[in-house]
Amino acid sequence: MSHTVLTVSTTTLSEMKKHYASQSAAKLPTGAVFAAKTADCAITGYRSGKVLFQGKGAASEAAKWQGETAQAAPARKKKPAPALLPPGFSELSVIGSDEVGTGDYFGPITVVSAFVKKEQLRKLQDIGVRDSKDLTDPQIVAIAKKIARLIPYSLLILKNEKYNELQQKGMSQGKIKALLHNQALINLHKKIFPERPDAVLIDQFAEKDTYYRYLKGQKEIFQENVFFSTKGESIHLSVAAASIIARYAFVKQMDQLSSEAGFPIPKGAGSQVDAAAARLIREKGESALLHFTKKHFANTEKARRLLNKQ
Ligand code: MN
Repeated sequence: MSHTVLTVSTTTLSEMKKHYASQSAAKLPTGAVFAAKTADCAITGYRSGKVLFQGKGAASEAAKWQGETAQAAPARKKKPAPALLPPGFSELSVIGSDEVGTGDYFGPITVVSAFVKKEQLRKLQDIGVRDSKDLTDPQIVAIAKKIARLIPYSLLILKNEKYNELQQKGMSQGKIKALLHNQALINLHKKIFPERPDAVLIDQFAEKDTYYRYLKGQKEIFQENVFFSTKGESIHLSVAAASIIARYAFVKQMDQLSSEAGFPIPKGAGSQVDAAAARLIREKGESALLHFTKKHFANTEKARRLLNKQ
């Protein structure tokens, strides 16, 4: 059986784990942090950073991550320094950037960059802006409408047709996200010009080096005062605000898809999602998946299996 081994950074490893979450295998081998199966490849990621690709599709699946391997082996890679943020960061005027929908089988990816000036921090707090994961959909909608009137932002919606096209060309989700964040940041800076933020904070989905490697070859690359941190929502309210607007846009898109489908389209990538996908295929044909879903997720195969059983 053909196989390929990559050595990746811890951030890439956790990104891969997320990327393959919808296709995860039931059993984890010793020392593994994730195990997944696509139609023609089994992928196992180990705590050591080694990722093993096995099967017919090994080489092409591994190729998707080729750009993100830890700098080719010899010298041991230094541990990445923790994001060093300027002192008093939470009180600065900051553009925050976050995305929604990357783990959902149905619906688009939405990315938002939002500018919150220091004078507005208190006001946003009063409105209830905080980590969107702690908020219900109706709360998100209500708060998003209020903040959208208060602060400048740039919203990008990557619809499924385009996502599937990029994915089929071999683009990783990490690169897709980086391109979207970069574009949103460029758009927002133009919008607020000549005003400038003290800093930009991207809710971290890749290490800084990886992020800029994804952007190589782009006409315009935004990199002035850009910081990366995980849990960005808790570091500056601008990231929380961006996340709320992104989720609001995602929810609206899902409502739209539900009305097109004629039944409620579920979020996530669980078994309800498989059932909804099966129903969609039965009623609209498999070609509809390109419009409604991120087709490469394992849910497509699971939906096909459900249909074959009927
Ligand atoms: Mn995020």
